[in-house]
Amino acid sequence: TVFNQARELSRKLEPQTHAYHEIWLDAKRIYSGAEEEPLYGPGYLPRKFKIAFTLPPENDVDVYAQDLSFVAIEKEGKLLGYDILAGGGMGYAYGNPGSFPRLADIIGFCFPEQVEEVARQVLLIHKEFSTRCNRKTSRLRYTIAGKGLDWFTNELATRLPFPLQAARPFSLSTNGDAADVPGRQTIEIEGGRIQNSNRQQLKTAFHEIASIHQGDFFITGNQNLVIDGITPDTAEQIKSIIGKYNLLPNDSGLRRNSSACTSLPFCPQALTDSERLLPKLVDELEPQLKELGLWDEEISIRMTGCPNGCSRPYLAELAFVGRGPGKYNIWMGGSRRGDRLGFIYQESVPVKEIADVLRPVFARFAAERNQGEGFGDWSIRALHPQSL
Ligand code: SF4
Repeated sequence: TVFNQARELSRKLEPQTHAYHEIWLDAKRIYSGAEEEPLYGPGYLPRKFKIAFTLPPENDVDVYAQDLSFVAIEKEGKLLGYDILAGGGMGYAYGNPGSFPRLADIIGFCFPEQVEEVARQVLLIHKEFSTRCNRKTSRLRYTIAGKGLDWFTNELATRLPFPLQAARPFSLSTNGDAADVPGRQTIEIEGGRIQNSNRQQLKTAFHEIASIHQGDFFITGNQNLVIDGITPDTAEQIKSIIGKYNLLPNDSGLRRNSSACTSLPFCPQALTDSERLLPKLVDELEPQLKELGLWDEEISIRMTGCPNGCSRPYLAELAFVGRGPGKYNIWMGGSRRGDRLGFIYQESVPVKEIADVLRPVFARFAAERNQGEGFGDWSIRALHPQSL
């Protein structure tokens, strides 16, 4: 139900004009969509606008990092409606104190039939008030931070033909991928790139699976691939392909929870490596974790090649954000639930020194943590309590 609602909303908010689908011949436009864009107008949006849905306790879409999120509230398997979160976002720019990552605020609850209007009006507030004059700060989060949350909720209330209800309690357990159920298998894709490499023949393996799989493939917000709707008649064959290509290796909890942005060589904003480097860095860190009995510890680790934060590093338990060629700011302190921003532990650390910097931190974590305490929760308690 939640997935269908998300898909439906996506369709409803799609631009009606097909600016990217126009066909021109001999300087004459011979095909285009609608002449006038009914929702977005001639200027579209000042900048991007991201919407996510989740069903607690899962938070694999990182609802606190989005411009607008809907958190499903259910009772005894029946969908009651959604809590609404607005104004989250990850990126910032070095040397620009007016830019910052921000967690979305919970602003209320709406019924399923009200979702479209809520989304439409929040989007229009973004369109009208998030100025394009400064591209770096033309996102909804800066509008909310600048004008205040009360201003935003009042503005939304005056536009909606119904009142929002008070938010209902919900509890998130992880911003990692959802646990598999019968008929569904999640395959970890390091760095999110399906390719044949020395480590794994992912491309060949998925090609084989796709040739027999009747169901769907989903790409998760954590860069993994879900084979969904596995039917009993193909289950054994898919299992055998997974085994043949070692698609479920006994990876550390760190590697299982790693993600990295594209960065070099594809991203023009990149200051340094990310996707190409993170697996090698994890190679260096894994022996430490093994020695300390932390091999299976689920630690979310994210890397980006610049502070734009495309892999949502500021919500991770451990993150590396590109500061310059071969140098990274080390962040820690995000929660496993994805509901807390981390802190900078050390700045501009050369990549060759990262493992040495982290060695005593992991050792302290292994020795000092409370039972069941995750790395992010421990690191903020032990190393940065002032931000709690
Ligand atoms: S975070 Fe990564 S992908 Fe995003 S802009 Fe920076 S380098 Fe590019």
